[in-house]
Amino acid sequence: MAKDWKTRTQLVHTGSRRSQYGEMAEAIFLTQGFVYDSAESAEARFVKTEGDQFIYARYGNPTTRMFEERIAAIEGTEDAFATASGMAAVNGALVSLCRAGDRVVAARALFGSCLYILEEILGRFGVEIVLVDGTDIEQWRAALTPGTKAVFFESVSNPTLEVIDIKAVAELAHAVGALVVVDNVFATPIFSKAVELGADVVIYSTTKHIDGQGRALGGVVCGTTEYIRGTLEPYMKHTGGSMSPFNAWIMLNGMATLDLRCRAMAESALKIATALDCDARLSRVIHPSLDSHPHKALATAQMGSGGTMIALEIAAGKDAAFRFLNALEIIKISNNLGDAKSIATHPATTTHQRLPEDQKATLGITPGLVRLSVGLEDADDLIADLRRALDAI
Ligand SMILES: *Cc1c(COP(=O)(O)O)cnc(C)c1O
Repeated sequence: MAKDWKTRTQLVHTGSRRSQYGEMAEAIFLTQGFVYDSAESAEARFVKTEGDQFIYARYGNPTTRMFEERIAAIEGTEDAFATASGMAAVNGALVSLCRAGDRVVAARALFGSCLYILEEILGRFGVEIVLVDGTDIEQWRAALTPGTKAVFFESVSNPTLEVIDIKAVAELAHAVGALVVVDNVFATPIFSKAVELGADVVIYSTTKHIDGQGRALGGVVCGTTEYIRGTLEPYMKHTGGSMSPFNAWIMLNGMATLDLRCRAMAESALKIATALDCDARLSRVIHPSLDSHPHKALATAQMGSGGTMIALEIAAGKDAAFRFLNALEIIKISNNLGDAKSIATHPATTTHQRLPEDQKATLGITPGLVRLSVGLEDADDLIADLRRALDAI
């Protein structure tokens, strides 16, 4: 495969496999099994599979493999493993790595299900979990004692869009021999330079920007061949968290337009955030490219973009935030993100409802906070929709 292809070319072509029919579009190999020429070749394949050989869809499938090769090329890793959902990816990446007595240091601002995996699952099996404020490098330094197995964080946090310094955390982690595992959903594969900055394992929920039209669940773990095939694959293939070929086909098609979509959405996000920044009804407008964002320089260096998400804080609190949400016409109330359709979420009562009040406060998840995933609609229409909804407060 042409290594010197630029991203857009790779997004359309890398990983494509064609059957004897020479089909143009990527085929969906909707098959769980594969036929062997002889008993001997079945035996040989169970000893070692090469290149285009498959055994069972839970282990691998040609359509899924196309997607894995394409995303690995974009992310700049040797290999990737596609999973049934983003959470299957996070679970697989961490559980396959750790054993009792290990220590994992993670940023506190995490998606609720990620926190569940760390504290409830890994904790139950004797893995020590240390949570730090991910934006405070001194807390990482103090927590990263020799023998730490891994660090885990969202490179841009949900929902308050804090940016974590991948390079600084990776240097500290590598100094004590810890693997750097990054949940990179908000950064998107297009704006990600995570591997260049020192991430060892990069995880995406492909449900988000990679599908891009809110149709199918999926996830992917990107890393070295040694980690993906040696550590993760045995765990995934025996526990059943692999991506279905049909969903892999959806993700492959999403990849073709990923660059165009992410750039258009990020451009609109900046335009919207800038337009709303001085609105008196908002106590905070959070977007990593705004001058007011404390990590603007880091976001620019780390992603070259502020991304496709915005957080708004309605000054008058929860009831006003609900009136605002209910008055939106184009923007839908939902909890996905990265979709072509713009989506507004009220984290305090939905995605982060279960967090205790003091933790919500620590993480900045206030009653007035609304998370906005900017879609592919015309930015001026979205600004008009948001202003109309602000008027309805
Ligand atoms: C959505 C999301 C996940 C979980 O992905 P699913 O595909 O819903 O399982 C994990 N991390 C982040 C940051 C997410 O946004």
